[in-house]
Amino acid sequence: MAHKDIFWMACDSTEQLRAEYGPFHTREEAEEEARKLGFGYLLRYEHLVSDEGEIEEVRCVFLELSNAPVAARSGVTFHTRCATCGEAAAHETGWQAEVWSDIHEFEHSRHKVRLFERARGEGLREISDGRGFAA
Ligand SMILES: [Zn+2]
Repeated sequence: MAHKDIFWMACDSTEQLRAEYGPFHTREEAEEEARKLGFGYLLRYEHLVSDEGEIEEVRCVFLELSNAPVAARSGVTFHTRCATCGEAAAHETGWQAEVWSDIHEFEHSRHKVRLFERARGEGLREISDGRGFAA
């Protein structure tokens, strides 16, 4: 039986000529390092390894870190509100807000979650990241 090896890299772009840092065993480690370095992407490698220990297939998937620079600012909170049913939540990081939104849109098909950030002493500002939050 072949098995799969998975590891993660932090990287600064999805271009051919990119800086990569790693590997890491978990996504959390790679993400932490990426944020430290100011990198905006994670790269997930999957190696399909045969019984003989040979790599039969390599797959890699890029993941964009959402709002990487924004999440690092202190005093900023993130707010999600579903434009369809009105369910809302507050989050400490943009990442958590995005996960909430993904889960909500997954559980309620055709609901549209909007994402906002609020800096200390300021009002809500809608974040449009090209993923349809602002639609
Ligand atoms: Zn909803």
